[in-house]
Amino acid sequence: MKINVHAGHNPAGKIACGAVGLINESIENRRITEEMISQLRQLGHTVYNCTVDNGTGQADVLKKIVAKCNAHAVDLDVSIHFNSGAADPTGNQKTTGVETFVYSSSSKAMPYAEKVCQMISSLGFQNRGVKYSQTLYVLKNTKAPSMLIECCFVDDKDDVQLYNYRNMASAIVYAITGARVSKPAETEEAKPGEETPVGDKDARYRVQIGAYSEKSNAEAMKKKLKDAGFEAFIIQA
Ligand SMILES: [Zn+2]
Repeated sequence: MKINVHAGHNPAGKIACGAVGLINESIENRRITEEMISQLRQLGHTVYNCTVDNGTGQADVLKKIVAKCNAHAVDLDVSIHFNSGAADPTGNQKTTGVETFVYSSSSKAMPYAEKVCQMISSLGFQNRGVKYSQTLYVLKNTKAPSMLIECCFVDDKDDVQLYNYRNMASAIVYAITGARVSKPAETEEAKPGEETPVGDKDARYRVQIGAYSEKSNAEAMKKKLKDAGFEAFIIQA
């Protein structure tokens, strides 16, 4: 496939930057964009990064993004965003979750948008579904089928604790291509019906290795695992 990917908004701290909450949209959407592009290229797809870092305002950012998108004939345009408005800074044990936008129900991006919601929700995020918008500038003005992804909420503690940019990017790449990049031997992926100690990134069931009252002890174990080649992260209970 040929795919355009861009992070919405100007960079963090500039005019027309993205939403800021417990995490920063303009930082995370660029991480996801870079990771997606790396994975898509490893899978043999042609990808263009249409992110804009020098817009003079919101309208200018959007105009420049669309100009970059339309400079390439592609199968799909993907716009990476994060949502805000959940107003759950302390956590209520429920994510607010993922939603995607396409221009209309007849958009050729519709099947991708549905699959993106499914795959991100399989990471544990609530699925808010596919929505239609005839007013979102990028959806309206790009030539190729286009989808906008609101990965999760920057101001929901549950979303933020679950969020990991690599897993998010992998879920989107899998939704678009039906494929995953092969992982190093230590993180061998579980085949359907099979489980491995550190395997499938989409699994809802995870193996915990320790619980500590001192954060420093948790950090030390995390480092030990990372040094040993395992993906590790800390969840505060
Ligand atoms: Zn946004």
